[in-house]
Amino acid sequence: MTMKYGVIGCSGRMGQAITDLFGRSGHELVLTSNLSGTECRARPEVLVDFSSHAALAGTAALCRAHGAALVVGTTALGEEHFALLRELGKEAAVVQSFNFATGVNVLKMILREYAPLLSDWDLEIEETHHDKKKDAPSGTAILLRDAIGRDCPMHSFRLGGVPGDHSAHFANDGEVLTFTHRALSRGVFALGALRAALFVVNAEKGFYTFEDVLKHGMKLGAAS
Ligand code: NAD
Repeated sequence: MTMKYGVIGCSGRMGQAITDLFGRSGHELVLTSNLSGTECRARPEVLVDFSSHAALAGTAALCRAHGAALVVGTTALGEEHFALLRELGKEAAVVQSFNFATGVNVLKMILREYAPLLSDWDLEIEETHHDKKKDAPSGTAILLRDAIGRDCPMHSFRLGGVPGDHSAHFANDGEVLTFTHRALSRGVFALGALRAALFVVNAEKGFYTFEDVLKHGMKLGAAS
């Protein structure tokens, strides 16, 4: 199946990784948007937004204008942005995640299930990203903290070209338990965005997470 798609933040690091992968996979780029403006040459079925929270209201308006689904990976979203996405989800299919890597989302499920067993252990979350990253702590650090379900110190390093490393360290007097995820390239996020786009173009309207996309894939695998 080939898709007509648009990219918000198309000239950015993630925008380029996304257009590279989607292009190699045979999908047609019909809308591009970045700080210098928007160009559209056909109706997109899905928009992929990895840009800035400042772009989100405009992205929602583009989705409504084109009847397009949405994949959004932008971080540093606040409650008002989630309210906007949930409202859009009443009219369109929307997938949001602060991290489109499969491993991070599996880690999130593990932590949600088992971190309650470590509720009286010390906990600190550490993340490292490239030195151009604007927000700290990362959206993924926040996602992992929310999966664990309690506040903890979070430490951010901004070093060189690191695409994204995250560790949740648990410890008590006798043991240390560390969960670590490393993205080896931006390609993993682009691959997740492609999986999400292929899911969302056929999904009922609603607000979905990347976990929903992975679980849908598992059901399809079990059925085949
Ligand atoms: P970048 O700075 O390289 O690119 C940002 C792009 O957004 C640029 O093309 C810029 O022109 C555009 N942009 C900025 N403000 C805009 C606006 N108001 N309207 C339209 N376009 C606008 O950033 P990046 O490294 O590509 O990251 C982009 C976003 O994706 C960040 O929020 C980052 O944290 C996030 N990200 C998410 C994941 C994930 O898996 N969810 C992975 C990596 C990065």
